[in-house]
Order: sequence, then structure tokens, then C-alpha cells
Amino acid sequence: MVEPDYRSGGFKEDPKVTSQVHEVVENLQEIWANRNSKDKFELASGNKYYQRTKPIFYDTQFIEEKQIEKVRVCNQCPGYIAIDSQAYHQDGKRYRILAVTIPFQACRFCQEDGWDTYERFKKDYRFNYVYLQDKSTDTYMTHQREERRELRSDG
Ligand SMILES: [Zn+2]
Repeated sequence: MVEPDYRSGGFKEDPKVTSQVHEVVENLQEIWANRNSKDKFELASGNKYYQRTKPIFYDTQFIEEKQIEKVRVCNQCPGYIAIDSQAYHQDGKRYRILAVTIPFQACRFCQEDGWDTYERFKKDYRFNYVYLQDKSTDTYMTHQREERRELRSDG
């Protein structure tokens, strides 16, 4: 996959937040790699989504982090994934990121739904960053609430 270019645009970005975004994106790839290991419909038990909470973990970069993964199940396509990541950084500040990923093979409905999720969370003041990777169109979006900035990268 193409490395999302969220550092483009010639601006300076907080490296702590960048590493959190990086980590979330790596985790998204891991979920995609393992997505066929369990029956997604069984996991969703009749709902449109299934959700998993990754236990809080500690590492050198973040004091602690909690992640919630929400997977849209669809019988037309692989669906899409949204990850809600909250991390306390060493400066004591909490950063909350939402990352949505839409796969290459996404159907039109899941693609629209994924973009709707991105747009909806852009308006949610609790999230510092909202990130979208739409692999079906090779489009990457980053919304930075505090900087009041939205970045778009195509291809
Ligand atoms: Zn779909």
C-alpha cells in the first residue's frame, strides 16, 4: 500500500501526533490483513457493524492508549473500518484521533458511508485529528481541528 502522505503540504506538524496517526494506520493495515480470519457476519451478529476494543497499552511514546475499532460489514464488499484512538502523551495532553479506511474494492454505499463518517467526525470537537484513506480513489484526507486545517492528497 502507498504510505499516506499526511506530512505533505509544507507545514510543520506535531511529531507526537504524527506518530499516533502512524500507529493507528499501521493497526488498520493489520486488521485488514486479518479480516478474513473470522466470519465478519458472525462477529456483527446481524448488525451493520462490529466493534472491538483494544486494551489499553503502554509504550515509550504514549503514556497509555485506548483504541476502538468499528468495522462495517457488507455482503457486496469488504466494508470499511473506523478506529477511534485516544492517547495520553508525555506532555499530559490527550489526543484523540479518528481514522477511516475505505478499501480498493469498496462498494459505492460503503464508500459514501466512509466519507459520511469522516465528515461527521470533523464536526466532533472531541477529536483532534480525523483521518480518511480512500483507497478506491487513492485519496487521503486529514482534518486538524486545532489548526483549523484540512489537507487532501490524491495519489
Ligand atoms: Zn459495501
